[in-house]
Amino acid sequence: QNPELEALLQANEWSGKFYHFLLKNTEYGQSAMDYLKNRGIHERLIDQFGIGYAPARWDTLLQFLEKRSFDLAAMEKGGLLSAKNDGSGFVDRFRDRVIFPIHNRSGKVIAFAGRIMGDGQPKYLNSPESKLFSKSRTLYNLHQSKNEIRKKRQVVIFEGFGDVISAWDAGVHNTVATMGTALTESHAAILKSLADEALVCYDGDNAGQAAAMKSIPILEGAGFKVRIAMIGEGLDPDEYIRKYGGERFLHQIVEGAVSAVKFKLLYLRKNHILLEEAGKVAYIKEAMEVVAPLPSPTEREIYLKELSTDLQVSFESLKQECNQYRQELQ
Ligand code: ATP
Ligand code: MN
Ligand code: MN
Ligand code: MN
Repeated sequence: QNPELEALLQANEWSGKFYHFLLKNTEYGQSAMDYLKNRGIHERLIDQFGIGYAPARWDTLLQFLEKRSFDLAAMEKGGLLSAKNDGSGFVDRFRDRVIFPIHNRSGKVIAFAGRIMGDGQPKYLNSPESKLFSKSRTLYNLHQSKNEIRKKRQVVIFEGFGDVISAWDAGVHNTVATMGTALTESHAAILKSLADEALVCYDGDNAGQAAAMKSIPILEGAGFKVRIAMIGEGLDPDEYIRKYGGERFLHQIVEGAVSAVKFKLLYLRKNHILLEEAGKVAYIKEAMEVVAPLPSPTEREIYLKELSTDLQVSFESLKQECNQYRQELQ
């Protein structure tokens, strides 16, 4: 075993408990408790996700770690402290932020994310990449969801912390979040060992939809059957659940998830003015690039029929167009 890593794991575990204690049991945590309550994150969820609070002072965690004889330079490398500019010592990295511990698959705390309570930048401050924490290989909540994912053979993938927490509250437990980074092949490979279907449920804004689009080839490349759960109004899953409740989230959004092909067609459709002939033609071209490579003739027929109805173009001409594309593919 590597003693430096062991020390950092120990420090992370104790720091997480310390932040959690400060949130729940001290005056320092009061504003953060109010913030969480306002967001609908009640006490059970605070405990379940180990949420904490880092006070505004510069030396809260510093003193805590010093008292326990941790090597402060190592704590800086691990992201709990920051080095002072003049090199004269260390200060707390997280100050006046709500703290979300990030666990590895086996439940050890490997990093933290701190959310600012008001407006301000950055909205989330993360631990830096370290020997323990690699964003491209870490999925938030996997330690609590892996059994449920395996049982359902399905994983719901979100972008953010709040989405996972609200979904948990609504009884949806087979979830992880990529924490704002693009889904990687490593993420997909880790999940593929647990599930066969991936349900991508990203934010309803343009960034979220674009990220969903990019996740499809990565998940399919790992062997997943992919579906996309779309949320309208530009809401994210957390906001949707707070607004409409968990039941409606389950029945409208999760159960209403569409196939990857359908999502691609809907996504591409938005870029064209379909009332204009040129717009229709351009969209059909892009749609063919999605539909023509599908190996199943019945699947192709289903989508072509939908396009035919949607665009008021004959099925026969679409089929011809599709066959031309297929010849070009060979
Ligand atoms: P909230 O609901 O608290 O406002 P969110 O989860 O909806 O946050 P998004 O802007 O949708 O936030 O981003 C999704 C995820 O991306 C966040 O949960 C967080 O993990 C990550 N993230 C967002 N902003 C930052 C940032 N400035 N630095 C690092 N990570 C970020
Ligand atoms: Mn977003
Ligand atoms: Mn969001
Ligand atoms: Mn949100």
